Amino acid sequence: MNAEERVGIDVGGSAIKAGRIARDGQIRAEQTWKTPHFERGPAHVLDGIAELARSLGAREALGIGVPGLLERARGFVVESPNLPGFRDLDVRGELARRLDFQPANIRVENDANAAAVGELWLGGAHGERDALLLTLGTGIGGGLILNGELFAGEGMAGEVGHVVITPDGQPCGCGRRGCVEQYASATAARRRALEAKLPREAPGDLELLAARARENAGPERDLCFAIGRDLGRGIGPVLCLLDIRCFVFGGGFSGALDVLEPGIRVGIDERSYGERQHAVRLVLATLGPKAGWIGAAKLAFA
Ligand SMILES: [Zn+2]
Repeated sequence: MNAEERVGIDVGGSAIKAGRIARDGQIRAEQTWKTPHFERGPAHVLDGIAELARSLGAREALGIGVPGLLERARGFVVESPNLPGFRDLDVRGELARRLDFQPANIRVENDANAAAVGELWLGGAHGERDALLLTLGTGIGGGLILNGELFAGEGMAGEVGHVVITPDGQPCGCGRRGCVEQYASATAARRRALEAKLPREAPGDLELLAARARENAGPERDLCFAIGRDLGRGIGPVLCLLDIRCFVFGGGFSGALDVLEPGIRVGIDERSYGERQHAVRLVLATLGPKAGWIGAAKLAFA
C-alpha cells in the first residue's frame, strides 16, 4: 500500500466488510469476514479487525465504520446494540496499539455516516452538495451530507429513523414510540405486510409485494403507498429544517423505491411547506454493501 491508498473497514453485526481503495476510487482489494465471533468479546473482535487491516495492507492510517453511538472525537464506541460487548470501548486506541499506528490516523465513524460518505464519493450522491442517505434495513440509518461534507453534529446528526411520526405509536428500540423506522424500515414493512396478509401468495415477502404493487392497482400498491407516506412524514421535517433536495436510498428495502415514491411525496407534502415535494429527488444508492467500507477509507485520507 502506498500513501495514495487507504483501507476501510465496516463492522456489522453479522459480517465485517473491508477493502483497500486508491485515492482515485479504484478498488484494490476487498474482503468479507462473515464470522466475527462477537460472543468471544470485543478484544477478540478487535484482534480480528487488526488482522484484517494488516492482511489488506493498511499502513499508517485506517478508517472504520461502527454501528451505534460514538464519541467521535476520541474514537470511542459508547454503546452499540448490534455489537455485543462494544460499550465504552476505545476502538481507536485499541486498534492503534494493535497496529502500531498513531491514534490520530485512525478514523472511527458511525456506519451510516461512513456509507453516506461512500455514496457521496463514488455512488448515488456523487456530485451532490447536500444530501441525506437513508438505509432501509433492520432500522432506518441516516447519514447527512452538507456542503459536500459529512455533517455529524455532536455525533448523532442525520438520525432520520428516529423522527417521531406517530406519538404513542409503535414502541421503538430507542425507548420512544412512533419513530419512522417502526413504520418504513425493511423490518417494519415486513411486519405490516404480514399483518395485512400481503402479498397473498407469500405474506411478508417484500420483493413480491413490490412486484405486485408495480403490476396492478390493489391492496399491495395501497400498502406500499402507506409505507411510503410514513417515510415521507419522517423526511418532511428534514426538508423544513435543511431544504435538502436529494435523498438517497440504500438497504434491503430500497429496491421498492419506485413503488414507495408516490407515498413518500405525499408524506413530504403533509409535513413540509413550500411545494418543494416536486423538486425533491429520490435516488437509489449504488454501492450496496460496499458503501460503508469505501466511505470509511475515504475519511482516512483526510
Ligand atoms: Zn426510535
